[in-house]
Amino acid sequence: MSVAAQVDVVVAPVFGTNCCVVAAPGSGVRDCVVVDAGAGVADGVARVVEERRLRPRAVLATHGHADHTWDAAELCERYDVPMWMHAADVYRLDDPFGTLVSGAGAAAVSSALGRELAALGFAPEAYRAPKPVEGFETRGGSADLTFGAVTLRAVHAPGHTQGSTLYLLDPPGSDGGAAGRGGTGEDARTGGRTTTGAEADAATPDSAPSGIVLTGDVLFAGSIGRTDLPGGDDATMRATLSDVVARLDPGLAVVPGHGPTTTVERELATNPYLR
Ligand SMILES: [Zn+2]
Ligand SMILES: [Zn+2]
Repeated sequence: MSVAAQVDVVVAPVFGTNCCVVAAPGSGVRDCVVVDAGAGVADGVARVVEERRLRPRAVLATHGHADHTWDAAELCERYDVPMWMHAADVYRLDDPFGTLVSGAGAAAVSSALGRELAALGFAPEAYRAPKPVEGFETRGGSADLTFGAVTLRAVHAPGHTQGSTLYLLDPPGSDGGAAGRGGTGEDARTGGRTTTGAEADAATPDSAPSGIVLTGDVLFAGSIGRTDLPGGDDATMRATLSDVVARLDPGLAVVPGHGPTTTVERELATNPYLR
């Protein structure tokens, strides 16, 4: 009997950001939060909310880069909910391109984002900052956040940006319990359509996952987030990888900010940045 949070992934058409709709366990109308509302996910999120009879309580972000926050304003408005993210990245919401453009590599990323947005009909000048915004602090490295019946543990994981955050679903001690089941597997979605197959299977560790962690741009399957953008820092990222990521429960399924799902166990064994 599953008591875990349920995750639907809506893949953004821009930069392939994995937007996660995290629903409380139970039946009937359930609370949910939306994590990483990338550009173009709003309608896909709305379909999930409708089909699963969900009640959005907040929009969260793993960090303040525009490919994780672009549709936050629209979703906050549509559902009349606040945006939550680590306080250290809140400043980025007011200037999504300005906080990306600095240094050679960053300019390329920013213009690539601009081109991809434009090609898909998102005018960069049409960007709106979400409101209201709540910046949380992580004293001692983590904070438990509760939105109605949804509880997540926010774990500070700086290096890609100052405020980068991992979200643990069903943290021990929450109503959801630590015995996560299913979730990312059969429910993985691409562009609002349910998918099965290789990507979804990747979330399934050898035994049932002990829970799910959303890693944003800190940890990907086989890779890690870049540290050369403004606010990124290589030494800080190395500390995050050894002190935070390497200490995660190996039984956790991982939904990264981009690309296929994986597990902590698999990354500890095969990710070159964790060895
Ligand atoms: Zn990023
Ligand atoms: Zn990203």
